[in-house]
Amino acid sequence: MIVIKVGGSAGINYDLVCDDIALLVKEGQPLVLVHGGSHETNVLSEKLGKPPRFLTSPQGFTSRYTDAETLDIFAMVYAGKMNTRIVERLQKRGVNAIGLSGLDGRLLEGPRKASVRAVVDGRQVLVRDDFTGKVERVNVALLRLLLDHGYTPVVSPPACSTAGEAINVDGDRAAAMIAAALGAKQLIILSNVPGLLRDFPDERTLIPRLAYGELEQALSFAEGRMKKKVLGASEAIAGGVSQVIFADARITRPVFHAMNGAGTVIER
Ligand code: ADP
Repeated sequence: MIVIKVGGSAGINYDLVCDDIALLVKEGQPLVLVHGGSHETNVLSEKLGKPPRFLTSPQGFTSRYTDAETLDIFAMVYAGKMNTRIVERLQKRGVNAIGLSGLDGRLLEGPRKASVRAVVDGRQVLVRDDFTGKVERVNVALLRLLLDHGYTPVVSPPACSTAGEAINVDGDRAAAMIAAALGAKQLIILSNVPGLLRDFPDERTLIPRLAYGELEQALSFAEGRMKKKVLGASEAIAGGVSQVIFADARITRPVFHAMNGAGTVIER
């Protein structure tokens, strides 16, 4: 079993990713695809006159400020446009893909944060109208039901809160939970960078391999949303996944290159 997470940042080539997935599925490789949509969400938010806002935690992690209206835009992009177009690409390539958000069958479930601590102008504030949370449970039975019948699940946020609300969750960490829950051997995290760079954005400083014990130190190289990927990698490996690979989704054969170790390979 492999879990592939394809990001939502600008420059990602979804056609190339879907080409590889179609080949893998035809070879009989069971897999789950998880996707993002951050860039498209920013674009649509601007078009709708509600520019995106981000919260920075005291620990330096950034997340999208997701009030009820933003969650609608988020769902339009993730579970709407992005999911539909990826499923379409796979269907065109002969893969019987099925799109699911984390709400469907409570696929991705976890508590909504009652409030989010953020730093604004150097001061800590509590944000209470944010619909965000963290995935703590994966409906593995649902994924297995689909996989056992020849469907390829294409999964996206939002997730489902314990109270049944739609919540924004981080896609990388959701993919890590899915990989751990399915006992996947590899979690491949594709984005618009070649992997984790020691000195971002200098691509010559790609870190080819990292041991689990080095992840905490690696957090200091990662800026912005890359921090969530490092955290996700750590959670996947702690959950039993043998290898997490950060790799480039702008090149041909992106998934095969990653499976063969191109990018940043993180191992137990
Ligand atoms: P996606 O939506 O594709 O999952 P993100 O935007 O969440 O991607 O994260 C990837 C981004 O992280 C890169 O585009 C890059 O701008 C940023 N980044 C920050 N620090 C690093 C780093 N040390 N190495 C690689 N990328 C980094």
